[in-house]
Amino acid sequence: MINSEIVKELEKVVGDKYVSDKPEEQFLYHYDFITAEPEGICDIAIVPNTAEEVQDIVKIANKYKVPAVPWVSGINFGSIATPRKGGIVVDLRRLNRVLEVNEDDMYAVVEGGITWADLKGYLNVHNPTLRPGVTWSPPGTGVIPSCLCYGMFDLGMIGGTGAEFINGMEVVLGSGDLVRVGSCSLSDYWYGRQPLPDLAGLFIGWEGSTGIVTKAAIKLWPILPYRADYYAVGLRMEDGVPPMLKLSKAGLGIVDICILNHGWSQSLQGFDHKNVPKDPVKANIPDFIGLVTTQAYTEKQHKAQCEAIEEIFKEAKIQAVTADVGIQMLSKKQRGIMEDMTPATGGQTPIQFWGCWDFARGGGGQWIGSYCSTRDVVKYYQLSRNICVKYGKAPQFYSRILFGGHYVVARTNINFNKNDPQDIENTRKILKEIHDAVQGLGGVVMYKPPKWAVQVYKDKTLPATRELIKKIRRVLDPNMILNPGQGVGED
Ligand SMILES: Cc1cc2nc3c(=O)[nH]c(=O)nc-3n(C[C@H](O)[C@H](O)[C@H](O)COP(=O)(O)OP(=O)(O)OC[C@H]3O[C@@H](n4cnc5c(N)ncnc54)[C@H](O)[C@@H]3O)c2cc1C
Repeated sequence: MINSEIVKELEKVVGDKYVSDKPEEQFLYHYDFITAEPEGICDIAIVPNTAEEVQDIVKIANKYKVPAVPWVSGINFGSIATPRKGGIVVDLRRLNRVLEVNEDDMYAVVEGGITWADLKGYLNVHNPTLRPGVTWSPPGTGVIPSCLCYGMFDLGMIGGTGAEFINGMEVVLGSGDLVRVGSCSLSDYWYGRQPLPDLAGLFIGWEGSTGIVTKAAIKLWPILPYRADYYAVGLRMEDGVPPMLKLSKAGLGIVDICILNHGWSQSLQGFDHKNVPKDPVKANIPDFIGLVTTQAYTEKQHKAQCEAIEEIFKEAKIQAVTADVGIQMLSKKQRGIMEDMTPATGGQTPIQFWGCWDFARGGGGQWIGSYCSTRDVVKYYQLSRNICVKYGKAPQFYSRILFGGHYVVARTNINFNKNDPQDIENTRKILKEIHDAVQGLGGVVMYKPPKWAVQVYKDKTLPATRELIKKIRRVLDPNMILNPGQGVGED
């Protein structure tokens, strides 16, 4: 399908150094991090440097009717940047600049391929009083994909999902046209999406299948002088979740709340999953771990907030201590990588952890991640835990309460050995079984859904909604060249 003619045309756009159809260079672009199926193959990789070059690439893809897949690091945990139908992978990592920081309105205008390391590194040097919300993903992963795919950041309690951190965008549509959405569409300011028709939704949650974002404004937040990170421990999830939900609705300067089970807390410490009990409940070990971060402007305010947080934990009979105290209670061995996460590191979680995995060759992990009602956190965990235990896998559960307690993200991770086809099959089976089981809770919707999950949701939506989604995709990408085989809006 792909021929040298296309490569020649692409070389004219970016120079021959930045285009490749050599198998050894393309491997990275179709390497499937999570063993999803079927694997797609990258035919040509290209690394543009400007929005105009992205436009030219998309126009060439249209001319030859070949796919074009936006890509930053490809480890999104859903295999949604894998070129399912081959074609051109558009590696955006040269588009990694911070173009502007507006300290008054607290946003950064960045390019579409910027990574967390690029952004945080820039702010540390140039705007040290401001910070972005940050994921737990590796530093070399993309900021914009995380926002577009409803990622979760460590400011989720005040900012919501990654999508809500986006103020405005510049986007190359599937047609090759360049558009701007948000206040930047009619001024030099990128302070927000209000009060215009909110066209940002045309690009959020579509897995790059409607447009390639070349610039976006991302909300930043002030770093306040006082901060405390609480670790809370309880025997069962049903003991610990109610006070966490209470805290999420109490204000108290709380910027982040996470709920973990024993397995996930072990990964937080960097331990190998082989040493984690398969069923923490049967082993009768504390299976609820809560993380709460609060910040304040004055010492008096900080003390009052901490007092109220401690009171809520006390009422629920949940043990809670601040990180600096908690770390001292653990032996050196038990601390694992947690020592690097105390406020002494500057308050920003540098966790970037790889899960409670087998760190030896073949170690892998994948999760079923969903948004759901705050009512269903405990039930989600119990259902997924039972399935993991049934298949002899240690459950690793994590939930983040978002946007002042309006909703949560909940997910259960499974470890597997990428060198063991039987284990891969088994893991796929478990993940699907968890997905189907939690569907019974009602309001559970998976984010970064693989194709089989997209089909489930398609079957559930009203026919007119389905039709609308299809029409929108076709308007923005008439030849369906952007990331085909992924996202919503396909037959
Ligand atoms: C160990 C680990 C921990 C993680 N923890 C978190 C976490 O705490 N929170 C979280 O949110 N995520 C987490 N992730 C998931 C993911 O890595 C991050 O969300 C990351 O920022 C996504 O970037 P990426 O470079 O992997 O995206 P990619 O895989 O390159 O892209 C993801 C999707 O976005 C599309 N896309 C990419 N760039 C653009 C663009 N400019 N315009 C339009 N579409 C585009 C792609 O086509 C694809 O569909 C974690 C991942 C790992 C491996």
